[in-house]
Amino acid sequence: MDMSNQEIDSFYQAMCNSVDGYVFLCKHPTSDYEVILPPELVKEFELSSEYPTRYFDLWLERIHVEDREKYIGALESMFDNKTKMFCLQYRVLNREKKWTWIESRAFLNYDENGVPILLAGIIHDLGKQNRLDHITGLLNKYAFREATKQKMKEKLPVGVLLLNIDDFRHINELYTQTFGDSVLRAIGTYIQSRLDSNASVYRMDGDEFAILITNPQEEEAERLFKKISNHYKNQKELQGKRYYCTFSGIYYEMEEGNTYDDLVRVLKVGINVVKRKGKNHFLRFEPEFLQYKERELELLELLRNSIENDFKGFELNFQPQVYADSKILKGAEALLRWSCEKYGKVSPVEFIPLLEKTDMIQSVGKWVFQQAVEMCRRWVCLYPQFSMSINVSYLQLFDPQFVEFMHTCIEKAGIHYQNIIVEITESKFISDKELLKRVFESIREMGMKVAMDDFGTGYSSLGLLKEAPADIVKIDKIFVRNIKENSFDSSFIRVVVELCHKVGIKVCLEGVEETEEMEVVSEMELDFIQGYLYGKPERAETFYQMYLNHGTV
Ligand code: C2E
Ligand code: CA
Ligand code: CA
Repeated sequence: MDMSNQEIDSFYQAMCNSVDGYVFLCKHPTSDYEVILPPELVKEFELSSEYPTRYFDLWLERIHVEDREKYIGALESMFDNKTKMFCLQYRVLNREKKWTWIESRAFLNYDENGVPILLAGIIHDLGKQNRLDHITGLLNKYAFREATKQKMKEKLPVGVLLLNIDDFRHINELYTQTFGDSVLRAIGTYIQSRLDSNASVYRMDGDEFAILITNPQEEEAERLFKKISNHYKNQKELQGKRYYCTFSGIYYEMEEGNTYDDLVRVLKVGINVVKRKGKNHFLRFEPEFLQYKERELELLELLRNSIENDFKGFELNFQPQVYADSKILKGAEALLRWSCEKYGKVSPVEFIPLLEKTDMIQSVGKWVFQQAVEMCRRWVCLYPQFSMSINVSYLQLFDPQFVEFMHTCIEKAGIHYQNIIVEITESKFISDKELLKRVFESIREMGMKVAMDDFGTGYSSLGLLKEAPADIVKIDKIFVRNIKENSFDSSFIRVVVELCHKVGIKVCLEGVEETEEMEVVSEMELDFIQGYLYGKPERAETFYQMYLNHGTV
């Protein structure tokens, strides 16, 4: 580019009028240092000065201390002829004395002798363009999309590490949403402070952060993941409150021909695989992950065959529930099992969501209810106070005939309604709170009890309880897993017990496996316990032999 000063000026005017952003020029950046800035930029960041050479110093003063080094480093490497391009996101103080994120891109031009003659660039105020996340102050998902697309256009090698906080809702649940927001902010700031200059972090939806790494090194993402998760595995204190969290992480390196939508799909599938494999770890994306989809389609077909074949392959198992104080048998939970020739036993954690994806949950759900009521009929003869807990998917509640169906089943069996407990998993999909409330009421009017299952893992458990009161709350087993080391989990259980007892709700704790865990929970005034320590799910015949021949566990 060989332009006269006049040409440069008119070019500059044309750019300023046609581009969305602040265009800046610096002629002879290493000698005369003639800087041209648009008046809007000068005003917005209070840069006015009689001496154009002062612009740089003023600008540097406006930059956030934590970002200055990164900024200077990037400039230096451009002038050292390492790169012609400069592209950086950093925070700057505007005239309202607020931090705003800006993205600055610049290009350095040389004359034939290799002397820099023109630095031209453009500054985008990201805050103004709705690209900032207001909770964490980080860039948001729109900025992520743009940045990734840009890198792809420039054909730069990039990798994305997606971090999802495991069970973040516990924090919202135990404290408040506002506190949850503060935790997100703290985590965002921490992640940012651990990043090298080739990486930037974005707040995605909810409890998710994406880290975009340009020119990633071998194992770089995994090292970063370990650094972050190690930092949070110990309890943290914020505003006088304690919390800890674990992360699930998936990493994907973009391949040639990938589109942004491919990236989103791969990250979504990948993070689900990490969650299904027990959360709290890091995986590099593998193409096989996409085959989960194929297995899913095949399982759906096989499940349908089973149902049409008179529920062949389906069976109920029963797990004992005991009184927390005396450890005497209270009843059992009916748990569905399914196996097929091709895949053998398939976990309910895998096949139930498949049934729920289709209408199959309706017929299987009815079958479960009928079988469990029938078993209960036989067992109450031996043990009259026996209660049978039956899982009912929230989707079954949408069937207007379901309440009537339960009624008929119990009438036919001739047992008391009090012997049946309907367990419903609270779920973020329960959007129709009114419907839930009505169904709960009609179940309770008949005389059955309602248990809210997996309490603490769902969307807004305490809130939901207020809207649709239950008789029993079942605290999910993940709260027992670290109970010996983790005071967060035990305080969660204590708070839930206390709140529930105040309004006359009983509490059952699931997942107690070891005597040491039992010792920790024994002072928590729980009502019932269900866990491997007292018995695993067994086939009906075994359950009868083990627990009902004598009546005690
Ligand atoms: P859930 O209703 O929370 O059932 C309790 C699960 O915790 C069962 O897993 C049980 O085996 C397991 N469990 C009980 N005590 C312990 C323990 O001490 N340690 C450990 N590690 N696990 C323990 P399972 O049988 O794999 O069932 C998984 C889920 O599948 C159930 O969770 C429930 O959501 C769903 N499910 C099972 N049967 C049915 C059904 O008939 N209908 C519906 N809609 N869902 C069902
Ligand atoms: Ca259950
Ligand atoms: Ca449960």
